[in-house]
Amino acid sequence: MKIEELLIYAQSKIHKDHARILLGNLLNLNPLELLIHLEEDVSNEKVELYKKEVEALRNNKPLQYVLGYTNFYGNKLIVNENVLIPRFETEELVENTIKYINKLFNKEISIIDLGCGSGAIGLTLKQKLNNINTDVTLLDISDEALEVAKKNADKLNLQVNFIKNDMLENINKKFDVIISNPPYISYDEKIESVVKDNEPHLALYAKDNGLEYYKRILSTIENNLKEEFLIAFEIGYTQKEEITSIIKEHLKNVQIECLKDMQNRDRMIFIYSNNLLK
Ligand code: GLN
Repeated sequence: MKIEELLIYAQSKIHKDHARILLGNLLNLNPLELLIHLEEDVSNEKVELYKKEVEALRNNKPLQYVLGYTNFYGNKLIVNENVLIPRFETEELVENTIKYINKLFNKEISIIDLGCGSGAIGLTLKQKLNNINTDVTLLDISDEALEVAKKNADKLNLQVNFIKNDMLENINKKFDVIISNPPYISYDEKIESVVKDNEPHLALYAKDNGLEYYKRILSTIENNLKEEFLIAFEIGYTQKEEITSIIKEHLKNVQIECLKDMQNRDRMIFIYSNNLLK
């Protein structure tokens, strides 16, 4: 089949932009290049693959999983069904964390990303904080997620450490920065079917009205913090008050600041030790 015929076929089933993105991805052409090669033949093998991908998209599979990558903070990151597709809100978490780190620290720092998934947070911090030395650790309980994170680290040529573990349980090391976008959706919350039917529930849902991981992390976090520290969490937009009181229960002499995302919803909490205030 020719490129033009394939596009006509796909556009009857899925959105035309998606039809172009998928075919471009398969043939290593950008969408504009596709349009100047409309008369070119596509091998049978690729035609079959394309039809399968169109079908997957029609069956509500997220575009990023079909493509095998997503864009995050200027990088193309590998994603598959074993990791959450990083969201815009998480880019905002990273952006603000970089600002906090630059404001609060001016020395070598160690950072751990709890529940790293694709590695989006930890790897982006490692890459963008190139004005200071960072020792970055990515932690996840899922072997499959760690495999994706390792591939992304290789792809971006970043040297980081990996740990397979259940959050901070039995971790003895102390860090300057602890960051996490843990699962925070409560089991009874209604979420979009494209998310619920495709993304790993291990990365989405948490007991205790979605607060399980904040409680677990915060209950022992002091053991893993240096004297001067920063903690950064992504949170569900209804969880600010509850998480703030969990923080106060476990940490004294800290500043707690909540920031909103671009949709004006409470989305990030930053906690830092008072002794970092200059
Ligand atoms: N922000 C994600 C969503 O809305 C959830 C991520 C999470 O639970 N950490 O689907």
